[in-house]
Amino acid sequence: MNKPAPLPPIPFIDLGAQRRRLGRSVDDAILRVVDHGAYILGPEVRQLEADLASFCSAEHVVSCGNGTDALALVLMALEVKPGDAILCPSFTFAATAEVVAWLGAVPVFVDVDEETFNLDLRSLAAGLTTARERGLRTVGVIPVDLFGQPADYDALAAFCEREGLWMLCDAAQSFGASYGGRRLGTFGIATTTSFFPAKPLGCYGDGGAIFTQDAALADTLRSLRVHGQGTDKYDNVRIGMNGRLDTIQAAILIEKLKIFEDEIARRDAVASRYEVGLSDVARTPQVAAGNTSVWAQYTIRVAPERRDALAADLKGAGIPTAIYYPKPLHRQTAYRAYPVAGNGLPVSDALAAEVISLPMHPYLEPDLQDRIVDAVRAALA
Ligand SMILES: *Cc1c(COP(=O)(O)O)cnc(C)c1O
Repeated sequence: MNKPAPLPPIPFIDLGAQRRRLGRSVDDAILRVVDHGAYILGPEVRQLEADLASFCSAEHVVSCGNGTDALALVLMALEVKPGDAILCPSFTFAATAEVVAWLGAVPVFVDVDEETFNLDLRSLAAGLTTARERGLRTVGVIPVDLFGQPADYDALAAFCEREGLWMLCDAAQSFGASYGGRRLGTFGIATTTSFFPAKPLGCYGDGGAIFTQDAALADTLRSLRVHGQGTDKYDNVRIGMNGRLDTIQAAILIEKLKIFEDEIARRDAVASRYEVGLSDVARTPQVAAGNTSVWAQYTIRVAPERRDALAADLKGAGIPTAIYYPKPLHRQTAYRAYPVAGNGLPVSDALAAEVISLPMHPYLEPDLQDRIVDAVRAALA
């Protein structure tokens, strides 16, 4: 007797399905740039900045080369100095703290909340005390909207106001999400995002953007993006970088932004289906009341001793998984010498051992998703 054919593998993110939906529009947009030849800061870059601004009601948008440069450009504009302390989560992608270290400043690692995976306010206060005890002057906070869900911006803004700190929002995973009915992009002194292909709004290479309500800050960012230019690029008024977004990537993003709203709704439908199918067998992610997530990742929690077996069982069924993040930054070789808030970061440590992310993208069809749900249930039974 023949064995049944194995089911086809399920992609973790299906960029091919999105490409099929977009049809020739992206190809045509790329060819238009190839033909007009304004490869650097061409008209599509300004068009995209305007489209992004209207999408999230931000006053000013400065596109740039990637989400890491976006953060760095803001820190440069804010004139962060060696020895300044900046509070940020430990349970995040390395870029959040990396840019702080680039400038010789000191990332002080703060714990996250169990439910939202985002900055914990009590730990944030402890981090400020830790910095003070070390004789460091804290200048700002970089909250991250992990996996697509906004951080608690009202509480964070109140904390920053009270302590005289700026807030730079790392929305690399959350562009398109909303907090209290307001799209991200207008909170804090600036918001940054990434258009890395696997982010909710991705291009076909590297890209990023900065959003701000502050016209003077936007001007400084535009100067920093082109080697600190003054009246032109051979007039250098500050130390900057080459931080521009390619015109071709802007052209691609203009087309993708047109369907982004619909893709966010589809991501939300996929998340709801996971919630119904899995909430009784695993700890499923919850979005705080009044907010929306763009579900950059759908991350569940299981007992640490069961996680490897779950990943192996799913792999056997043709279902990929990923661990974001296996090691919090305060445990990483490159970052472990930096200060940690209070007596340690127990939630970040626990999450690193328990989290596992399932396939998530706008084109995950219900029958495929049911296969994933059934496989997770069987593995955890
Ligand atoms: C992806 C990411 C970045 C960096 O974006 P790149 O475009 O890859 O440089 C920064 N912060 C967070 C939280 C991210 O997930």
